[in-house]
Amino acid sequence: MPQGFEPLTSLSMKADTPPHRECYDQEFTLESHPNNDLSVDEERLLRKRETALGYRIMASWGWGADGSGHITARDPENKNCFWLLGYGVPFAKATIDDLVLIDEAGALIEGNRAANPAAFHIHAPIHAARGDVIGAIHTHTPYGTPFSALAEPLPMSSQEAAAFYELQGVYEGEELNVTDLQTGRSIAEALGDGRLVILANHGLLTVGTSVASAVGFYLNAERAAEVAVKTPHGRQISSSAAQEVHASVGNELNGWHIFQWLVRSRLGDPAEVG
Ligand SMILES: [Zn+2]
Repeated sequence: MPQGFEPLTSLSMKADTPPHRECYDQEFTLESHPNNDLSVDEERLLRKRETALGYRIMASWGWGADGSGHITARDPENKNCFWLLGYGVPFAKATIDDLVLIDEAGALIEGNRAANPAAFHIHAPIHAARGDVIGAIHTHTPYGTPFSALAEPLPMSSQEAAAFYELQGVYEGEELNVTDLQTGRSIAEALGDGRLVILANHGLLTVGTSVASAVGFYLNAERAAEVAVKTPHGRQISSSAAQEVHASVGNELNGWHIFQWLVRSRLGDPAEVG
């Protein structure tokens, strides 16, 4: 198991609470954990819900307003298949019913819209290579894309960057529009066992053991890229200090907590996604 992908503690849920609503309807505290005691159908609904919410979080900053960007969620039963928003739906209006399910060959399994081809070519090889990855997100952001033109890993110059200490890779290929699976496999190779891959001259991509943590850590990566772009000669902390910070901010539960904050801070009623 790679560094930073610790298993999470299970939390039993109240029988009278719809499981897919629990983390948003209950009080959010330091002790809040994801509910890992779900049936397959409940888990699927949770992953789809977090995916739709994740698209809306992207839209809350205007990211993906031109259609560039995607979030995928591995299906809990058909594990070679993943969910993503059907092509053409504005991210700000994403709902569970707008998601489509495609398999590792790109065939449409469920839903009545097409899937973004770049999403398939980039995400399918990552889901195939990394059985621990449930969620993955990529888009073109105000600082992630400029930083990616450096074709370098994030410097350890902020708390947010420490979430990726020894968990980041750089894909240096020049295929800025990913139109084939071989390029996606090379991106997956650059990601390795990490959490972040910087697609040179293109943007950022993060993964997580939940859709929520993948989205939460994407915000960390964008913030770290902003620090790096604005302070190109900023001080980098030592490896030992980065490792220590990573231990507190780099675990999967922290990524999940960031997502809970984003849902509460950036969106209206989460039930709008269905
Ligand atoms: Zn892209």
